[in-house]
Amino acid sequence: MTKKVEAIVEGLALVYPDASPELNFKNNFELLIAVILSAQCTDIRVNIITKDLFKAAPNPQAMVDLGIEGITELIRSCGMFNQKAKNIYLTAGLLLEKHGGEVPSSREALMELPGVGRKTANVVLSCAFGEPAIAVDTHVLRVSNRLGLAKGKDPLKVEMQLQKKLPKELWSVMHHRLILHGRYCCKARNPQCESCGIFSLCPRIGVDK
Ligand code: SF4
Repeated sequence: MTKKVEAIVEGLALVYPDASPELNFKNNFELLIAVILSAQCTDIRVNIITKDLFKAAPNPQAMVDLGIEGITELIRSCGMFNQKAKNIYLTAGLLLEKHGGEVPSSREALMELPGVGRKTANVVLSCAFGEPAIAVDTHVLRVSNRLGLAKGKDPLKVEMQLQKKLPKELWSVMHHRLILHGRYCCKARNPQCESCGIFSLCPRIGVDK
């Protein structure tokens, strides 16, 4: 790590010492479904939805039994609920058919599931299986660019740049810290630079105030 990257890592660790996912889940299946739901939806909303959804369908078989219509009813307050209901139904079916009802632990198998792209797979690999991974969502993308940790709008390229700059053992925790920083401080439209804990380290490149 360069001295500058090291300082950013230490600064974010001080501000967000206990960074972890804000989605509620009790097992890998619930994590997978919650992350599928979280695309273009806040974690707060997803947690409200999954409270009832997981009560009705705590495992893949129960999710398949609910059917697309049943799932749709329970996730209606989520963005893109029709598509997500279909993906959740198909994913639960595939877990039963191909993986014995378990969430697979390889990126390839995860990305074969409907509604699971690289970002979702990275979250599951990291949070469920302890694999080092950096899931680049809108917050990670924006904050990395502003801090000069990465450059560009392509999530895969940003992920590769972050992987080069950060040691593997920090990938997962930095993913959570960058998300929290983007969510609560380095916001898209109105970054709270005055109260930012790493202000002195920020080149403030591309801040669109
Ligand atoms: S100083 Fe402002 S732009 Fe830089 S990381 Fe902090 S909130 Fe974001």
